[in-house]
Amino acid sequence: MVAEVLAEERPVVPVPLDHRNAYELLAATILSAQCTDVMVNRVTPSLFARYPSPAALAAADPAELEEIIRPTGFYRAKARSLIGMAAAVEERFDGQVPGTMAELVTLPGVGRKTASVILGHWFDEPAIAVDTHVLRLSRRLGLSESDDPVRVEADLKEVWPRQMWADTGLRLIMHGREVCTARRPRCDECPLVNACVSRGAF
Ligand code: SF4
Repeated sequence: MVAEVLAEERPVVPVPLDHRNAYELLAATILSAQCTDVMVNRVTPSLFARYPSPAALAAADPAELEEIIRPTGFYRAKARSLIGMAAAVEERFDGQVPGTMAELVTLPGVGRKTASVILGHWFDEPAIAVDTHVLRLSRRLGLSESDDPVRVEADLKEVWPRQMWADTGLRLIMHGREVCTARRPRCDECPLVNACVSRGAF
């Protein structure tokens, strides 16, 4: 029911990070850790103009790269991840971002959540990216009792139709940002109110 109601509310699910290919989506997703999508989208035009391919990024001067991505925060660690990711894509995958979870998580800076974004929104593979919003809402909605992203992902995969995994995950993130926020869930405006075990509990 949650998946269907969210789909009715948000039929179109644009991926909020600007990108033109899998490499750009992967780099933007790495940058989005602890940073707003708006800020990432401000930084990536310069980043991709300077480093248009994994080969270019793999050869980046770390100090120059850090300067470009500095507004996204944690820029030293992110620069290391970006260069490591690009070098691995170049060396081990012939310059092409791989399309399986097993391969993606071998790349520096790429965990299960980032890999799920790439799989679900570039490769059209069924995947659910579990971020802090999905974790919180899964508990509030009674879809999972766990705090472990891997367990929550498995619980959601049991209740949502497979073809809706990626989009429903993204819709839940948007719902968490706009309606069921961490501090002040707006239950009186929530389309999920009839499906929610936490309604009115705040
Ligand atoms: S009813 Fe309230 S707690 Fe439940 S999902 Fe909606 S906003 Fe969140």
